[in-house]
Amino acid sequence: MSDRDPQPVERQLPTEEARDLLALVRDIAQREIAPKAAEEEDAGRFPREVFTLLSESGLLGLPYDAEYGGGDQPYEVYLQVLEELAAARLTVGLGLSVHTLASYALATYGTKQQQVEHLPAMLGGGLLGAYCLSEPSSGSDAASLRTKAVRENGGEWVIDGTKAWITHGGIADFYTVMARTGEDGPRGITAFLVPGDAPGLTGATPEKKMGMKGSPTAQVHFDGVRVGDDRRIGEEGQGFFIALSALDSGRLGIAACAIGLAQAALDEAVAYATQRRQFGRPIADFQGLRFMIADMATQIEAGRALYLAAARLRDAGRPFAKQAAMAKLHCTDAAMKVTTDAVQILGGYGYTADFPAERYMREAKVLQIVEGTNQIQRMVIARHVAGPEAR
Ligand SMILES: Cc1cc2nc3c(=O)[nH]c(=O)nc-3n(C[C@H](O)[C@H](O)[C@H](O)COP(=O)(O)OP(=O)(O)OC[C@H]3O[C@@H](n4cnc5c(N)ncnc54)[C@H](O)[C@@H]3O)c2cc1C
Repeated sequence: MSDRDPQPVERQLPTEEARDLLALVRDIAQREIAPKAAEEEDAGRFPREVFTLLSESGLLGLPYDAEYGGGDQPYEVYLQVLEELAAARLTVGLGLSVHTLASYALATYGTKQQQVEHLPAMLGGGLLGAYCLSEPSSGSDAASLRTKAVRENGGEWVIDGTKAWITHGGIADFYTVMARTGEDGPRGITAFLVPGDAPGLTGATPEKKMGMKGSPTAQVHFDGVRVGDDRRIGEEGQGFFIALSALDSGRLGIAACAIGLAQAALDEAVAYATQRRQFGRPIADFQGLRFMIADMATQIEAGRALYLAAARLRDAGRPFAKQAAMAKLHCTDAAMKVTTDAVQILGGYGYTADFPAERYMREAKVLQIVEGTNQIQRMVIARHVAGPEAR
């Protein structure tokens, strides 16, 4: 590795406050997150203390209302924070994105009373959230979920079922859970806020994954879990709509994480290519690699521009679902391509765990799968562009 510092990303930030925020985040990322990333990912260790630090630094509720402990930041700023964190360690960037996703239902559809009671602890009180939509037999077809919530004599709800693939499953302090309370299909689903220590809620042994080994992904079992009606979010039957609306914003988080990961891979590849010599010259002199580097940088810039354009639509209160799906699709495919090319630029060393390029490549893969696979993103985009499918 050379001592060459990567070129700083030229960020478009709307305020001086946002510039200070990004400087703080970069400092935390470089001092507290990046130095331990490789070792802890290898050991499969979740850095809970980093999330405590992010909470203490006011970074766990950035896009939400300051009245409830949020940071009142527009999405275009929050997403660039995510990008910096993901560049340091994807487990942290994606973890914050999932926490934000898990907080969305209550922050957007909760009653005033629910928000006063729960949001300050969720957004700035050190709690960590999980979002529970997927199940063992329902992934892309999420509306077919089977976890049931049944109301007992107009009193408490009793939740039974198994959620699958849950990020922070088993370690989260709160779970936003979509459960069936009525008819089959999307209209029979309701959202609930379930505390992590609710009796009957258990996390299974985390999955053994290809990458992001420090981020626990586990099934969560609900075995007669009881919650009061004051923990129902939104109307009965509104849960699927809430879940999809959360995912529109969540996909922007995944897009930003993908660009952070790709940027880290590009920086690594350029640092290596300027130092490694073959045929008497740095390999960065060879046009075959220069063109690869140019393509990598272009895909990253295009991805950043796309997610920021979608974020600015969201910040302006305009529809952004199509652009969010496009950003998720483009940025995660770009991250897969850029991280694969980074391994190629490092040659044999790229295939070893001595350099982070191989980890970046393994981590990029999951971003094409989570929060709607990239096939599902294409379906969403096509519906916006070409209209609904004729059945
Ligand atoms: C590391 C990790 C973390 C996750 N975190 C969470 C979480 O926190 N909360 C949560 O709820 N879920 C989470 N998920 C689940 C994730 O959202 C699902 O894996 C994803 O939605 C796909 O569902 P599936 O795995 O059941 O695949 P399936 O839906 O079975 O899909 C299998 C394949 O078929 C394709 N496919 C399916 N339907 C169609 C179609 N109509 N047209 C074309 N192709 C199609 C898919 O694109 C995919 O390639 C996580 C997953 C992973 C791997």
